[in-house]
Amino acid sequence: MTPELTLWLNGEYLDASQRHTGGLAHALHYGTGVFEGIRAYDTEAGPAVFRFDEHLERMRQGAELLGMPLDVDQIKSVTMELLQRNQHRSAYVRPIAYYGAGGLKLDMDVLESHVLVATLPWKSHLGDTTQGVSLTASPFRRLSHKSLPPLKFTGIYVTSCIAKRDATKRGFDEALFIDDDGYVCEATGENVFIVKNGQVIAVEHPDALPGITRATIIEMSGAASRRVHVDELKDADEVFLTGTSAEVAPVSHLDGNPFTVGSVTLELQAAYQDIVHGRDQTFSHWLTTA
Ligand code: PMP
Repeated sequence: MTPELTLWLNGEYLDASQRHTGGLAHALHYGTGVFEGIRAYDTEAGPAVFRFDEHLERMRQGAELLGMPLDVDQIKSVTMELLQRNQHRSAYVRPIAYYGAGGLKLDMDVLESHVLVATLPWKSHLGDTTQGVSLTASPFRRLSHKSLPPLKFTGIYVTSCIAKRDATKRGFDEALFIDDDGYVCEATGENVFIVKNGQVIAVEHPDALPGITRATIIEMSGAASRRVHVDELKDADEVFLTGTSAEVAPVSHLDGNPFTVGSVTLELQAAYQDIVHGRDQTFSHWLTTA
């Protein structure tokens, strides 16, 4: 983190270079935190946060399960202030609520929760995706929704981190989670779509994060949402990934199986850019400005 960056923690604006998390933070030991990944885009009306309410509602659901209070309106106003203080015209917005030090028992009720908001300069974590992202079937499984609802709990992300490490070590850009029955779940930080004969299908899976970019693409394209077996995915004309960070990213292949970086994906990618940058007024209600 660059030293000149300002972030907000528990009501105070702080220099990002200061230490914030003690080694005894409950969240560090047990993953008892919940976060969001949100983006602010440069628009004619200034920096605009895309689908702020939907992101914060997902975070609120996670906080509720952890028994944490969460002041969503405060996070909204702090974010707008941070964008200004950090002079960000566009940024990645990372709010996180987590349990701090106070005991290493598993009972959370005795603990104090902390809320931090950071705004960071950002480009897609997948880098330049013009040539398409290479995917590999992960040997790891995404945690079942029966074990943990698929929300953005910090603890759940260790699976994504390990799967991503395995994929990149083997020379791929990204890992694809597939369940024991061969149904596609999601990638480590993105949802999955397939295109067959011009039809767009959003991969649905109970263990996958209910992605906000996914919902956006469904609303824009009228895509069907249903389960997709990996054999059906391999037979698709085009495959693409969606996520706040990755936006709309074409897939070039899954292991040895190639896909076209095709016109349906590229058109949706361009239309998404028009929406997030406020050039498409139909969806301007999804943008929050100061
Ligand atoms: N799946 C996982 C596991 C993710 O971390 C993300 C990124 N938040 C997504 C899907 C995509 O979700 P969204 O479009 O809301 O960013």
